[in-house]
Amino acid sequence: MAEFDVVTPSVKVADGTLPTATGKALSVVALRKTYGDVVAVDEASMEIAAGEFVTFLGASGSGKTTTLMMIAGFCEPDSGTITVGGRDMTRLAPQKRGLGFVFQQYLLFPHMTVSENVAFPLTLRGVPKDEIRRRVGETLEIAGLSGFGGRKPRELSGGQQQRVALCRALVYRPPVILMDEPLGALDKKLRDQLQVEIKAIQQELGLTVIYVTHDQEEALVLSDRIAVMRNGLIEQFDTPRELFERPRTPFVADFLGAANFLSGHVEKHTDEHTLVRLDETGGLLKARRHELATGTQIKAAVQPGRLRAGAPGDGFCTGTVETATYVGTLVRAGVRVGSGDVLLRLEVPAGRGPVAGERVGVTADPEDVNLFADERER
Ligand code: ADP
Ligand code: MG
Repeated sequence: MAEFDVVTPSVKVADGTLPTATGKALSVVALRKTYGDVVAVDEASMEIAAGEFVTFLGASGSGKTTTLMMIAGFCEPDSGTITVGGRDMTRLAPQKRGLGFVFQQYLLFPHMTVSENVAFPLTLRGVPKDEIRRRVGETLEIAGLSGFGGRKPRELSGGQQQRVALCRALVYRPPVILMDEPLGALDKKLRDQLQVEIKAIQQELGLTVIYVTHDQEEALVLSDRIAVMRNGLIEQFDTPRELFERPRTPFVADFLGAANFLSGHVEKHTDEHTLVRLDETGGLLKARRHELATGTQIKAAVQPGRLRAGAPGDGFCTGTVETATYVGTLVRAGVRVGSGDVLLRLEVPAGRGPVAGERVGVTADPEDVNLFADERER
């Protein structure tokens, strides 16, 4: 990863101009990388528009870093292509791609001042001194670091050092900035604050960013679109809202919202709805219309925040509130239904929350019920 820091001044780099705001910034086609038997990335494809903030989200080992490193040029794909601003970069050396990087480790030069660190990519490119001074000043100001230019990295907090690393990536306006868990080493409060700042800078400057995290909240806060990754595969690449409201796989439903799952089969369709007979409770669950054949064995997913507790007999099943935990603005309730082996998780606004021991009917808006043909885990 340190390759960025050993680029020699003689190397010719991409010109660093921004692509047009409407154009395609980057496309990746069928990118694949294996390590022996391990398929780290399996035919990943995506198109990212200029000005988009895209996040790779997935558990550890799902292939996020490998995908990013192939885009950066630090890792050679087995097959597939990477195009940036219309140029094929698949086999180009990292320093010739002209992309910006921010890693979890700040990788600042300890012997250089903040200004010198930020100036470094411009110095490499032979930009005139006055121009460097101007652009470094501007960039430090954007990141709230004016006045810190003369300090050494060790005289800064972790959050400030990460801002300097961000400035160094921003200063030459690369067409795409890549960030791998850049806030991973910081505490929660600072992380939240920097998330907001990164998003603000990205929007203000119209930057194209590809960001890696395993933190779903971080991904939701920052991203225009999220690629949910699992075992080297992109499960779904969509807006946060689509991922949450219309997950395409049970995995995505669970990963983004910790959905409740119920099994059953499609009993019939009406014009607008699909009616599901539930296995565990025998109840009838109404979902928005899905194109699934009658009789299909399915899994239904509903987010805890989309279930409501009503009077016994209401909704698709009745059960007993086992736990009701007050967590500030809402109450988390566990409702035991059916013959006792299903525990539904509900999140309801505090004040209207059910209490332990109460019998309740559980309801869901058909719009909030997602059905998946049950193929038994892929
Ligand atoms: P993530 O960033 O999502 O945690 P990675 O892209 O680092 O995942 O890793 C994806 C898979 O590839 C993992 O199974 C990991 O062990 C494997 N892997 C990554 N880099 C190497 C490597 N240099 N050598 C062998 N296996 C690797
Ligand atoms: Mg990683």
